Amino acid sequence: MPLDLRTIYAVAAATSIILGLLQLSAFATGRFGRWPLWWGLSSLLIGAGIVLVVLRGTIPDPVSIVLANTLTWAGYLLVLVSVRSFAGLRTTPWHYGLAVVAPMLLLLLWIEPGGFPRRAAVVALLMACCDTAVAREGFRLARKNGLRSAWILVGLFLPTSIFFLVRAGLVLNGHFGEELFPQQPVPLHWTAVGAAALVLARGNALLLLAAERSGSQLAALAESDPLTGAMNRSGLERAVAALAGQAGQPQRAALLLIDIDHFKALNDTHGHAAGDQVLRLFADVARSQLRAGDIVARHGGDEFVVMLPGLGIEAGIRIAERLQQAFARAITARPELPGGPTLSIGVTEGDTASQPLDQLLLDADSALYRSKRLGRDRVQSRQEASVG
Ligand code: GH3
Ligand code: MG
Repeated sequence: MPLDLRTIYAVAAATSIILGLLQLSAFATGRFGRWPLWWGLSSLLIGAGIVLVVLRGTIPDPVSIVLANTLTWAGYLLVLVSVRSFAGLRTTPWHYGLAVVAPMLLLLLWIEPGGFPRRAAVVALLMACCDTAVAREGFRLARKNGLRSAWILVGLFLPTSIFFLVRAGLVLNGHFGEELFPQQPVPLHWTAVGAAALVLARGNALLLLAAERSGSQLAALAESDPLTGAMNRSGLERAVAALAGQAGQPQRAALLLIDIDHFKALNDTHGHAAGDQVLRLFADVARSQLRAGDIVARHGGDEFVVMLPGLGIEAGIRIAERLQQAFARAITARPELPGGPTLSIGVTEGDTASQPLDQLLLDADSALYRSKRLGRDRVQSRQEASVG
């Protein structure tokens, strides 16, 4: 079936312009940062460039060849700018300007009618490079930022970069003929249908990434304590549930319930802000003393929970004492903070797969109560043995 390439291009141009307007409306909502601005402008430029290509033969060649390709290429590069902006990377404006203008000087040189294969090959090669760069950013977003939908970006941009490489080779070998819109249909024009569909479809890939990123940011916010950055109760419950469900076998863990001594008096004497600093300091000390898989959560007020997967009660007691010493050192190292707050700690151990978290907390709480009763600044374990 013969294909009318001009019609395919016209539909692609109209769709690209409509998508661009949609992406600019997303930017206008102010909820996404600047990347939808670059992506929207990119779609508009690509659309405008293709409109001029469609008019090839009816408008002067410098417009339908050089200007059209410059607009399309500028739009293409803006996709890369947009992805970089999404990833928090800046693009230097003059690098961008140079990347747009320099290759177009070549098109000016090859503007004669026989120059079509060379022009088309150069444009295809540039687009292959640009798509490879976008796929590389997608790869980084997936690996470094843990955004799984970034693989969609890689999956959409890597095939087109290969496609453009193949197109460059074919067009140089004369498989596409000598002009863009030949009288006789060329079978390879079917590839234009696939390319147009892919280029337009991927315009929405970043929206999927944005949805995933804002979802995980919200989840992180909902599960963390804004003052100390430690987990809150929901975070603790989710982390313990994840631990319990890991291997279908007993998941031993030590649990420490930690309370700052006479914290109310500290607040009353030095002010709430100084109290806040002490809470932050404790969370920092705990994070610096523990392993990556350990859990630190603020249980409320001046009380923290530390969960140590894989460890039993003796190791829990050792770590509790280490935390007491590290906290004392950290307080001493900060002369602007009220000196002297100490820690009372209750330690227990349990199997997270079979014992509910509330039970472990209750055990640790009775040990903590004992250390308070015995005079504070000490570690007590679920067994009656006093170790502080
Ligand atoms: P104890 O030695 O028995 O633990 O005595 P305490 O004074 O520490 O008593 P308690 O643990 O019950 O006091 C907790 C205090 O923590 C009471 C509350 O005013 C204070 N607090 C709770 N949340 C915050 C907070 O976010 N910032 C500050 N600065 N203080 C807080
Ligand atoms: Mg207290």
